[in-house]
Amino acid sequence: PLVGAFRNEPDTDWSLPHHAEWAQSIVEKWKPLCDGHATEIPLVLDGKELLADRKVRDCVDPSRPGVIVGRYRQASAEDVARAVECAANDPDGWRDLDPTERQTILKRVAQELRQARADLMGAAMANGGKVLTESDPEVSEAVDFAEFYAATARMWMEGVSPHLIAKGKGVVVVVSPWNFPIAIPCGGVVAALAAGNTVILKPASDAVLVAWEFCKCFWRAGVSRQTLQFVPCSGGTEGRALVQHPKVNAVILTGGTETALHMLRENPALPLSAETGGKNVTTVTALSDRDLAIKNVLHSAFSHAGQKCSATSLLLLEAEVYDDPQFKRALVEAAESLTIGSAWDLTPKMGPLIRPPSGDLENALQTLEPGESWALMPQRLEGNPHLWSPGIKWGVQSGSYTHLTEFFGPVLGVMRYEKLHEAIALVNQTGFGLTSGLESLDDREQTEWRAGIRAGNLYINRTTVGAIVLRQPFGGMGKSAFGPGIKAGGPNYVAQFMEFSETLPAT
Ligand code: GLU
Repeated sequence: PLVGAFRNEPDTDWSLPHHAEWAQSIVEKWKPLCDGHATEIPLVLDGKELLADRKVRDCVDPSRPGVIVGRYRQASAEDVARAVECAANDPDGWRDLDPTERQTILKRVAQELRQARADLMGAAMANGGKVLTESDPEVSEAVDFAEFYAATARMWMEGVSPHLIAKGKGVVVVVSPWNFPIAIPCGGVVAALAAGNTVILKPASDAVLVAWEFCKCFWRAGVSRQTLQFVPCSGGTEGRALVQHPKVNAVILTGGTETALHMLRENPALPLSAETGGKNVTTVTALSDRDLAIKNVLHSAFSHAGQKCSATSLLLLEAEVYDDPQFKRALVEAAESLTIGSAWDLTPKMGPLIRPPSGDLENALQTLEPGESWALMPQRLEGNPHLWSPGIKWGVQSGSYTHLTEFFGPVLGVMRYEKLHEAIALVNQTGFGLTSGLESLDDREQTEWRAGIRAGNLYINRTTVGAIVLRQPFGGMGKSAFGPGIKAGGPNYVAQFMEFSETLPAT
């Protein structure tokens, strides 16, 4: 009945002319709104909005470096302690609400998110450089999370057995990423709330304006400012104090593998549910539809400029495909045809990178290792250090940097293999295990690949990005996930934030 009642929220249909006009209206509202009129963003804790006497930080627009779109306040150590105390005391009584009432409120959150679609997209363009076709599905996913987690939480709390009592664990901290600044934090917040917890959101520093925009939907829907607190803070001292606070009962992190490892080094018993990095591979066999493979791979590698944990950053080609000059030319030409530009232009396929490349990404964009050559050399576009065209590295060798390192940007490495079992070994050698793709029309190859690959999301003849709530619950293994490893967007996700008691009938 639960699954029967749930319907995925549809994305906007861009073929309809009035939707194109609507998109233009988002730009017309949000672009000037940001020019010289930065939104002032308070801390929201203990039911209050606090603006004064805090460190002020800028929210910037990667499409227009130097343009400040918001100014947020950073929580101090005292603020963090106060937020946790408030969450632990639950002054508003969220934990004791009837699950049906919580579901009613969370369904109102879903409705507020639907109504705020344009503003959420505008904020993600302004403060993340997200292009239209990427921010729109994020809103749909956020709505899905709200509806789906509210429903599944009620199922766990009321539907499993008359003897089972389920309650929230207490206080949940959500540490969210900038690459999906709407869907991922909304998913964490709504899951924790649905399970009966109070929540503290520490949004990604690069996307605070977006988080502010969707938190207003929660508050408008009737989640109080004590039940959901908004606490941007530095990832250093204050962030550490927040996640490691003894009164915090669970931490939901979406971020780098190193961040998760660091948290666990500090406290091996940290109740952490983390989805982290990926070195995701798509394998293309000789028995594939090669045109379809190119289309899927380019979207997997270069949508959102490659800044998705789920993105394909390595392409394994069976020898016959690798050696086929026509395939190589078609792949490169298709990549060259991808449009790149400011998110405000509405048409580009690839928007700006959140930050000018540094570290692993800078290395990947600038360095070739032995055996490698550029099939397509990435270029910095004029005028904006965030804008890069896609790069394709040919001749990647087993065990190399390009084979094993995640770099989170628009670079695709290409490697040759002879036998499918060798390809499977090369995929598993990365040690990550988030998504993996296979392009093959052959049943036996599909079976062998499915059985051999260690990754949370296996996709055959489709992209490795764009998981849909309920249809493709999302999450990894290996270096890609820490904690119980329960998939987001699946029916069990909320249960990890509950505790259960059996009340056996009196004898
Ligand atoms: N759920 C997203 C997808 O399937 C990826 C999330 C992420 O990058 O963390 O593309």
